[in-house]
Amino acid sequence: MDLDRIRDDLEQFAEALSREEYLTRAGLKDESRAAAIRERFASLGSRTTFEKARQAAREASEPDSAHRLRFLAEFLGTNCVEYQVREASDRLTTAEAGRTIAADGEGILLRSAEVRIKNESDRSRRASLESARLAAVAEFSTLRREILERSRQEVERLGFAGYTAFCQELSGIDFAGLRELTQPILARSLDMYRDLLEWYLRRRVGVEPSAARRHDLARLFRAPEFDACLPPDTLREAAEAPLRRMGIDPQAGGRIRVDDAPRPKKTPRAFVATPRIPDEVILVVRPGGGPDDYTAFLHELGHALHFAYTDPRLAVEYRRLGDASVTEAFAFLLDGLLQERGWLRRFVGLSQPRDVQRFAAFHKLWFLRRYAAKLAYELILHDKGPAQSCADVYRDLLAGATLVDWPRELYLADLDPFFYAARYLRAWIFEAQLRDLLRKRFDEEWYRNDRTGPYLLALWERGQRHTVEELAGELGLGPLSLDPLLAQISADLA
Ligand SMILES: [Zn+2]
Repeated sequence: MDLDRIRDDLEQFAEALSREEYLTRAGLKDESRAAAIRERFASLGSRTTFEKARQAAREASEPDSAHRLRFLAEFLGTNCVEYQVREASDRLTTAEAGRTIAADGEGILLRSAEVRIKNESDRSRRASLESARLAAVAEFSTLRREILERSRQEVERLGFAGYTAFCQELSGIDFAGLRELTQPILARSLDMYRDLLEWYLRRRVGVEPSAARRHDLARLFRAPEFDACLPPDTLREAAEAPLRRMGIDPQAGGRIRVDDAPRPKKTPRAFVATPRIPDEVILVVRPGGGPDDYTAFLHELGHALHFAYTDPRLAVEYRRLGDASVTEAFAFLLDGLLQERGWLRRFVGLSQPRDVQRFAAFHKLWFLRRYAAKLAYELILHDKGPAQSCADVYRDLLAGATLVDWPRELYLADLDPFFYAARYLRAWIFEAQLRDLLRKRFDEEWYRNDRTGPYLLALWERGQRHTVEELAGELGLGPLSLDPLLAQISADLA
């Protein structure tokens, strides 16, 4: 097996896929042709290639080459699965993109329904939009089940006992262990979450907590009351000024390009495309203002900086593959600025930053609770297979975490491939430990200290060569622990 050839192909494949994603999501192209790209690089989806890489990883004696080969084997294994479901996935994407639902006598695109829901202040109209949306989502369950079923068959063909065993062995993450680590989030944060949820629902949404539904939460997190203090035109400078204070060029010498052009079919949510790491990173935004938009922009900026400052000399496995919790942690570090009172005061210009800070911390706590429940649910789903009964398990676990009546229709749509939920959970935990360290070393307002810049750049330069556990160990942060994360949230909410 020619490893150099595989690495070359991987570089070209990732670039082609990323350009395709950029064009479709930025509204420059209608139909996704991702399946055609996968076919062009069929060798990367072949079982033989995967098995050889896995074998080579097992036999490698030199630690660095074993490390690279493990990342490569993980990519090739997941790519085998994606290759098998490529057509079904494209069918799903295309069908969903074309699906419309009825809203006030007109047809609106299913993909814009959530934006309509959160912007709708009238509760009964919101409820009818939600039920039209859920009915449409449920129609795609058969196709989603087919994709899951085929994925399971493929991992079995590759010699694994099941989907969970496959993801666990390739990623090296102990999912059951992570579930044990993160489940206590639910009990430990229950009282503070419940108090705030009830307060926000009554005061901001006008809904009795016992009657609250998912769409009421969507409305709550839209938080129009903050629009005036978080306007769209302040965002970019507020994000970039602290970077310059730290001695970091926000455009990374031109390697980061911001696409903020308005286009009708551009996805409303910010995202990053990485055709070439580190040389070509595109930050795509459609700024509308408000806390949602601020968080999304800062989050994607965190990814963009990490990728654009990755050392170009690193092997493709360390630039492109590896532990995605690392890049998520840097993204959370940046979107966490919304919880920094000093940043809100100095860079956004708020004289009373308290309300925004508290709201951002509450939103983060909601995410954490939701993802802790999602991980527990996904372990059950992949253990049982996508049976109808899983819809009830999903509803119960999500309702238990969010404390609102949760729709069972989303049980296959609200699912990230290859346990990506685990990457987020590990990233939140590591990011809180890192933030504690930055505060201790570079002051409470670490984000405007010129000594923080070189420290962050040295971390970003390493791409995803090391896992979050390895980084935590090396930085003296000890094993992953919930304590800093929960302590920071309760301090922000106090
Ligand atoms: Zn992210």
